Amino acid sequence: MLISHINPDGDAIGSQLALWHYLSGTGKNVTMMTPNYLQEFLKWMEGSDQVNVFIRNRSKCRSLISAADLIVMLDFNHSNRLGEAEKHVLASDAKKVVIDHHTDPEAFTDLLISDPSVCSTAEMVYRIVTYMDGSPFRNSKFAEAVYVGIITDTGKFDHGSYSGDTFRIVADLLDTGIDRSSINDLIYNNFSAERMKLMGYALNEKMVILSEYQTAYISLSADELKSYSHIKGDTEGFVNMPLSIKGIIFSVLFIEKEGFVKMSLRSKGNFPSNEIASRFFNGGGHLNASGGEFYDTLENTINYFLRILGENFAVLNKPV
Ligand code: 5GP
Ligand code: MN
Repeated sequence: MLISHINPDGDAIGSQLALWHYLSGTGKNVTMMTPNYLQEFLKWMEGSDQVNVFIRNRSKCRSLISAADLIVMLDFNHSNRLGEAEKHVLASDAKKVVIDHHTDPEAFTDLLISDPSVCSTAEMVYRIVTYMDGSPFRNSKFAEAVYVGIITDTGKFDHGSYSGDTFRIVADLLDTGIDRSSINDLIYNNFSAERMKLMGYALNEKMVILSEYQTAYISLSADELKSYSHIKGDTEGFVNMPLSIKGIIFSVLFIEKEGFVKMSLRSKGNFPSNEIASRFFNGGGHLNASGGEFYDTLENTINYFLRILGENFAVLNKPV
């Protein structure tokens, strides 16, 4: 059984599907699950309809978990990223493996394959499969899934810890005949007009620049999202935009949810967005890209954030 994390992004689903394509091809009986949902912009990927969503079909997912001999978890390293499925996965007798590239892994599995120097879990899956097989697995559906993981986690090779090896792997992926430009369209140019208007509104009306802290933030309430017919995935990428402003090194997006606020944090250089996420917002992630949540109103969350920022910015803003 392959499991990706709650609120799965392109790398979570990409690495999961890549491993699924490979293992299914070797005759293994492989099932897939994700805790809460699949974003619209990933639903075109082959095999995504085989991913069971725990909160949509709890009883089926619980039987899949208890039937599994081996559970491989992808793109996360803390069991709380399993959401509601956490206690069932932890209680299962299956051998458990984590394949992941986030820092500070928690030891909750039999085997932990962790490398924070790799840009994406999808790239790790590619390397592991190549290692197991002795040569690259040249299958275009596998290649497509790895490619999606790499481009989404690096923002199309803009950030994150990609290396020369990443490009050598991408070269191999392209050689399998995957259509780079149509994948690009499916991931990045597949939104509604309403989403683009929401982006305009977010930047024009809701972006706040805090020059003193080289920080910008955007907050969106549930009502605002509703008025732009928001669907899951629509705010993807918004948090990166303020980083294109000269001098801004830290950007935060606050999204109002029922009973809590979901935050996305992005930074440049040494500024540790993940330290803010883990110390103050029940989250974590990478140095330059992290997330968290806060169990209060949008207004209180922002006020708390402003206080935290004021108290910690100077200390966290270490010279390069
Ligand atoms: P995003 O802002 O795109 O949702 O997430 C960016 C990064 O932060 C991803 O690597 C993701 O795994 C991590 N992340 C997002 N939300 C959380 C969270 O609530 N907890 C932890 N530990 N990591 C998160
Ligand atoms: Mn990832």
